[in-house]
Amino acid sequence: MTEVRVRFPPSPTGYLHIGGARTAIYNWLFARKHGGKLVLRIEDTDAERSTQESIQGILDGLEWLGVTWDEGPYFQSEYAAEHMAAAQRLLADGNAYKCFCSKEELEAKREAAAAAKGDYRYDGVCRKLSPEQVREKEAQGLPYVIRFKVPQEPGKVGFDDQVYGRVERAHEDIEDFVIVRSNGMPLYLLCNVVDDIRDRISHVIRGQDGLSNTPRQILLYRALGAELPIFAHMPLTLDLNKAKISKRSHGEIVSVQFYREQGFLPWALANFLVLLGWSTSDDREIFSREELIEAFSFDGITRSNSIFNYRKDDAFSFDGITRSNSIFNYRKDDPKFFTDPKAININAHYLRTLPIEEIGALVKVEFQKEGLWDSAYDGEKKQWFLKNLDMTRERFHTLKDFASLGRAWFADDFAMDETALAKNVLKHPGLKEWLPMLAERFDALPELSHDETERVCREFAEELGVKVGVLVNGARAVITGQVKGPSMFEVFAQISKQRVVTRLKGATQYFE
Ligand code: GLU
Repeated sequence: MTEVRVRFPPSPTGYLHIGGARTAIYNWLFARKHGGKLVLRIEDTDAERSTQESIQGILDGLEWLGVTWDEGPYFQSEYAAEHMAAAQRLLADGNAYKCFCSKEELEAKREAAAAAKGDYRYDGVCRKLSPEQVREKEAQGLPYVIRFKVPQEPGKVGFDDQVYGRVERAHEDIEDFVIVRSNGMPLYLLCNVVDDIRDRISHVIRGQDGLSNTPRQILLYRALGAELPIFAHMPLTLDLNKAKISKRSHGEIVSVQFYREQGFLPWALANFLVLLGWSTSDDREIFSREELIEAFSFDGITRSNSIFNYRKDDAFSFDGITRSNSIFNYRKDDPKFFTDPKAININAHYLRTLPIEEIGALVKVEFQKEGLWDSAYDGEKKQWFLKNLDMTRERFHTLKDFASLGRAWFADDFAMDETALAKNVLKHPGLKEWLPMLAERFDALPELSHDETERVCREFAEELGVKVGVLVNGARAVITGQVKGPSMFEVFAQISKQRVVTRLKGATQYFE
């Protein structure tokens, strides 16, 4: 196989969760690194559990993360005839057989095995039926499933997993598994292989939970006369209790959509997810999309062994995938750190360092949701808008902080931080008069500049015999609602004279 072709085949039975997203990103990185193709296939054969809403959610989530696919989405349900044809071929070639055992019969055998403390495995009764016996049972209209004939000679099915190494399973440990149900529906195990063969998949990169399916799938590949793909299984994502992350037990907190709603930057989440289960030898944590894609596309870049400089050309290889399951740390009870602190830190890093125009575009979406958007921010107030973001982002962790902690920069209905009120306002009763007086001095200035407001504050503090910090911190509280922030002289000059003056005058309300 010369061309690298990978696939992401989600089952659309719920939202896109972080584990699935991570698998999608690994596939995408691998495809991009090798100039290959990423195929998106929606495995919607479970008609009862698949929903349109889930399909849309998965597509939106991938697009938001920047995981671009090259082919698809293909829909597994559209290939039902092909899946059935493959089952028929396996039957015709003697690689599968019809099994007429009833549910009750199988159940009784399973119970007997359990009672004898033995492992139950289908005993192959129907494998021994003669063609006449099969015809007879069919003539009687007995329902049947189709089972795959696992080789009976001693031997093993093995493969070299790119992450887990050599994996082998003895033939005798694999039962003759069902490939078509009694209602005529081919099973997932078969559909998945038939589709991967048709889509010419060269590398199957998926969660470790697929590892136990692989020996059976390899038997199917062989029986269908197809070349084997290379398999690479990714460790699972676990929570702090070492339980597998799942939508059933963790709910929305593990969905990509949740992170989006909590103000994550798409690439920050992708970057964080890449690190769940993968690391470079120098434990580097921040990779821009461009850096990763670049590293993936050019394989002739000189290697630098310097420890400060990660080796670009091994930025993503299976070697970096850790074999132990990775821990996904989140704290439900702490609203600020609703998720892994590392995820928050990575998000804050991007929030504070990406070009401000990029942040502006993301904040726009947030503000539109919050009713804070003003069309002038795209026009004559654009520079003012962007400067507000730039001045405040240093302390922020998510995009939501602009509308909450940074609200006073854009609206008058902002909340007053309790500590700011207690420590920087109420503790100094004099501020009830001083702040309105400062307002008057500011109002007398033609415009509020950094230097002029600093001069006025210092002079006034000296006249009053108080530290300038008392005035400045009090002003910060009533103007921004916060305890901390950028230099107040810059804030006076930025936020608008009218707002500064009004808020300083309004300081009296806090003492009532
Ligand atoms: N549809 C399967 C899933 O969502 C895909 C497994 C695979 O990658 O083979 O788990």
